[in-house]
Amino acid sequence: MDQAPTPAPIVEIAPAAAVDTVTHGWRAKCLQRLIRMQLPVPRSFAIPAATVRAIAGGRLPGADELRRLIDASSGLVGVRPSAMNPEWGGPGTVLNVGMNAACHDRLTGTLGAEAADALYRGFVQSYAIHVARLDPDMFSDPAASLAEVLDAYQDETDEEFPQDPALQLAEVLRSMARAWDGPTARLLRQAKGAPADAALGLVVQDMALALGPGVTGSGTIQFIDSVTGTPRITGRFRGQTQGRAIGRDAESIFLTRDPRGPSLEEAAPGVFADLVRFGVAARERLREEMQIEFVVTDGRLSIIDAVRVQRSSRAAVRIAVALAHDGIIPPDEALMRVQPRALSDLLHHQVDPRAPRDLITRGMAASPGAATGRVVFTAAAAQAAAARGESVVLVRRETLPEDIRGMHASAGVLTERGGMSSHAAVIARGLGLPCIVGASGLQIDTRARLMRAGGRIFREGEDITIDGTSGEVLAGAAEMLEPALDDSFAQLLDWADEARGMGVRANADTPEDARTARMFGAQGIGLCRTEHMFFDDTRLPAMREMIFADRPEDRRVALERLLPMQRDDFTTLFRIMDGYPVTIRLFDPPLHEFLPHDREGMRELAESLDLPLSDVVRRVEALTEYNPMLGMRGVRLGITMPEIYEMQARAIFEAAVRAGAEGQGVVPEIMIPLVSARREVELVRHRIEGVAAAVRAETRSAFAYRLGVMVETPRAALRAGDIAEHCSFLSFGTNDLTQMTYGLSRDDAARFIGSYVAQGVYAEDPFHILDMEGVGELMLIGAERARAQNPGITVSLCGEHGGNPESIAFCQQAGLDYVSCSPFRVPVARLAAAQQALIQNRAESALAGGGGKPTPLA
Ligand code: PEP
Ligand code: MG
Repeated sequence: MDQAPTPAPIVEIAPAAAVDTVTHGWRAKCLQRLIRMQLPVPRSFAIPAATVRAIAGGRLPGADELRRLIDASSGLVGVRPSAMNPEWGGPGTVLNVGMNAACHDRLTGTLGAEAADALYRGFVQSYAIHVARLDPDMFSDPAASLAEVLDAYQDETDEEFPQDPALQLAEVLRSMARAWDGPTARLLRQAKGAPADAALGLVVQDMALALGPGVTGSGTIQFIDSVTGTPRITGRFRGQTQGRAIGRDAESIFLTRDPRGPSLEEAAPGVFADLVRFGVAARERLREEMQIEFVVTDGRLSIIDAVRVQRSSRAAVRIAVALAHDGIIPPDEALMRVQPRALSDLLHHQVDPRAPRDLITRGMAASPGAATGRVVFTAAAAQAAAARGESVVLVRRETLPEDIRGMHASAGVLTERGGMSSHAAVIARGLGLPCIVGASGLQIDTRARLMRAGGRIFREGEDITIDGTSGEVLAGAAEMLEPALDDSFAQLLDWADEARGMGVRANADTPEDARTARMFGAQGIGLCRTEHMFFDDTRLPAMREMIFADRPEDRRVALERLLPMQRDDFTTLFRIMDGYPVTIRLFDPPLHEFLPHDREGMRELAESLDLPLSDVVRRVEALTEYNPMLGMRGVRLGITMPEIYEMQARAIFEAAVRAGAEGQGVVPEIMIPLVSARREVELVRHRIEGVAAAVRAETRSAFAYRLGVMVETPRAALRAGDIAEHCSFLSFGTNDLTQMTYGLSRDDAARFIGSYVAQGVYAEDPFHILDMEGVGELMLIGAERARAQNPGITVSLCGEHGGNPESIAFCQQAGLDYVSCSPFRVPVARLAAAQQALIQNRAESALAGGGGKPTPLA
């Protein structure tokens, strides 16, 4: 049996009334603040969430209570949702509740038949669709007459349109309360971070009429540009309107003076001046940029609502920083107001307007930024491709809730159907993914895995570019502009750096990565994967020669050829990083990755090495493993073929000497991958010490270096105490650590992880968000044991989780020294680390009785 919620009293929103966000929702609280500011807000009531729950369960307020809510003078009220957080949305507003034949007669006398008809007709249509849930097609014709609409209602329901305002209100409240519990509404708000039991309050407000004589109409005004975040008055004003029921002579006029036509500023300068005054006051008092919704009735202004200005990520940063600059909120609060993920939008690419554009088709620009990727037609294909590290654009007729994981895995989303508030558009904006919807020129054939557009065919796997800022779909990979990082972005991140304790480094393998990392404020390189350096065409032959060498001396000869190239690689990185620490991971992957696997490739290799084909085939077979990820890789290679690590160590030391001679004080950090036993570290350390001594003697320089271990196996985490004796840092490689803790292949898991998450086996994809309960516990154990043994040891994380805000928060809580993530995620990590530090500080000062800082609006 359901526990029936106990209804709480409905309160009139007055300056001293007990109204709060948790009980009544953000809108009710916001209206109270506007009322306290003495703005002309019509009489409003707040229905608490508990009462709304009771209403959804069928326990409606009594008729007397309902009548109390209905405006005595006009007889009309509007009902709006009031969730705890405005981001969570809610059922659509229903206006003009109370409209019936008597009211229609009365308004015919005062406003004229046309206006009264328009109001009544609009209400019946909206009630039919949203409350009686009748076929929207039958009630969407704006040209239908009042009589036709009333007849249609009666035909469909076998009842006359309800005349009792209290009954109308009861039904409106019930339908809104129930709409909140619908599956789509729940999914949408959960995508915005709402908890499963998020509650809804409702606000009932007297209608301010926007139909009638004089300057009369309704509009919205805001004082900031929603896209750029720069100060600008925008909005609209339409004369003779009432919500969706627009009078026949409704006209849209400009808010501010405009050469193109009449404006509210000229038509009603007093009203306009009041709006501007209220805007300034609202910003200061509500500590937020607000969009004000207003009605003008014959020159008299009513403020009926105010909501946080909708904003792009760029605007969010600018607004938060400007509020802090103006002293309205402290910098710490500005930091808390920006979602770390939003920062990656600012880093997004744009299609270079100067470059040629191979336009295929257009759609609606639903979410900004541009992305190039291979076309895929299913969410599963997107996830599989993402697991292989490919960039994909998910192309769907429209997206459904079950596509969310595929969207997460995509660089961009393109749909044939849908509008700006379609599932694809809403979710993509939430995720900060470039997105185009309603590209009706597309024809998608999911079975044949192709799409037709602009007279051309594009098959799965072909590259396209979507420009979510302009709505253009382009063939191939378009040329992109680097993202523009403005002063607000830099300021916010400076504040973040002041607030955070944990360091942020980047995973960077190439000079380009290193430059990007520096540009985004990384405090060093936390992981340089050296193996990528060997795949280069000029290096692969030497690498293969080394693999084919039977004796250590022969291996050394091949490695000698790689040494100068590696030395140059590291010297370049040290120069770019200009004194910041650079952690170089010694060679990690299994050797077979460097060998050809097809006959033709092997034949070519035999030719180039001047060996019989059979030798090559034999060697390839000998290196083939059933489980290469658990095989001869990482430190296991370093132990069995020590020459590779010796060459790398020499290259690192010689590069450090060279960079040092140029004035860069480099202390290179050498990291050993895939360790599982202390003896592995001892052996490698011993050899590296030997190389260091030799290079010191040869170069006559006394460079320093640090040796560290990558904790990627559960055993390394459990034995971190022993391991810590032999090294000065540990870095959790949570990609492998997750793989090995779960026994879950990081390359294949995407095939079923969606199903696992959907069935609640895993709360999240553990390769995306760190599994704090399992992998996280191993990290805590490892960090504690390592520090107990070696208190000065540096402990960090360098798996993909280092760029995920939730995982970063865990690392900050766990007291890690730094996280290292891909260069583009460095700003996200800086902000996420700062936010978690602030949360911890607040919790600590609250515990110490210091009290918290004021919370922002809503
Ligand atoms: C890891 O395993 O977390 C890691 C960073 O190394 P790689 O991804 O190169 O295996
Ligand atoms: Mg690894």
